[in-house]
Amino acid sequence: MYGGTAADGIIPGEKHLINRNDGGAGKTGPALGRARPETERKMSGVLRICRGMLVLSVLVWILGSSALASLEVHFLDVGQGDAAIVLCDGKVMMIDGGKPDNSQFIYSYLTGTLGLSGIDVMVLSHPHSDHAGGLSAALAACRTERILTPVYYYNDPVFLRFRDLAAEQNLMFEMPLAGTKLSLGAAEISFLAPYKLFGDTNDNSIMMRLSYGNTSFLFTGDAEIPEEMEALERAPELLRADVLKVGHHGSSSSSGEDFLNAVKPRAALIGVGIENTYGHPARSVLERFRAMGTQVFRTDLHGTVVLASDGKSISVRTERMPNDPDSVYTLSWAELTPELTQEHPAVEYYVGNMKSQRFHLPECEGAVKMSEKNRIRFETREEAIQAGYQPCGTCKP
Ligand SMILES: [Zn+2]
Ligand SMILES: [Zn+2]
Repeated sequence: MYGGTAADGIIPGEKHLINRNDGGAGKTGPALGRARPETERKMSGVLRICRGMLVLSVLVWILGSSALASLEVHFLDVGQGDAAIVLCDGKVMMIDGGKPDNSQFIYSYLTGTLGLSGIDVMVLSHPHSDHAGGLSAALAACRTERILTPVYYYNDPVFLRFRDLAAEQNLMFEMPLAGTKLSLGAAEISFLAPYKLFGDTNDNSIMMRLSYGNTSFLFTGDAEIPEEMEALERAPELLRADVLKVGHHGSSSSSGEDFLNAVKPRAALIGVGIENTYGHPARSVLERFRAMGTQVFRTDLHGTVVLASDGKSISVRTERMPNDPDSVYTLSWAELTPELTQEHPAVEYYVGNMKSQRFHLPECEGAVKMSEKNRIRFETREEAIQAGYQPCGTCKP
């Protein structure tokens, strides 16, 4: 299926993507962002995928008797970061690329594991380095047709390196306006947010819903509650999705109750590093999913997660099970149960701030917003006290 020539330009051109700097002519949003380069990029939509056939047959073999799925979402284990690859009818979309130190993994997953040499659409949800980092490697690995980002400029060396590399390949950044759509083979992608730029970079994440037949996936980048609320107010009916790529690595600053009630996900994907000092995912968020009966897949526990849809149902294959790193298992949709989350409660620990000499519960705002360079992890409360740290007055750890 992925060996098809597909030289038919299935991905529509600029008419489905209204640039935010085009004078705010789009029906849903104001003019935003920096100056757009003069030259409009011509889209060829031509695929350059060669070796995917072999990979697909291996996957079908692993999936056993399940029907040949035409859509796959590979949610990659890039530690504390996000990276996903969507394959549909021979078309390829990459959404984020993890951190810079994931570059080699990204390169080999694209070219080796998936046997790809082309990416039709690359999406950088927002310019933070745990999302932009590995995309330079993806640009080096695969001839990329177009790049969607929420901003043209962000003052961070990782983002700027990605931007320079894109410019070298004559790729202009495009900003998908909320309310517009894009096709990826038979899958349809709707851009849901941002409607306006927030001060917080996470809240400018490209939020998009992919539907394929009767199945749907919602990608949120690092959107936090303000952007969730914005999407909820503007288009609540569009949020419903079978699979939610959970915002901001499961942080308590995302996945608000109202938002989750609108999405009603059957499965949730969390890109999170083992024993990360951010306290991701937050216990409160996991508890919300548990209460909703949503099956949670976490890259720290399950490794890379591959979801396959035939348009009617979704099957899930994970790289490993918790406590059994070598196992590979297959779940059909009917077998998904909420028990898995209950067996693996969040690890208890504390996060200290080396600057303020205070320590917090991992889900406390003070810990979530703390800069990486000031973080120190304590396994117990006693350990923090002994190190001379004072308990935070808000979360009272
Ligand atoms: Zn992130
Ligand atoms: Zn972020």
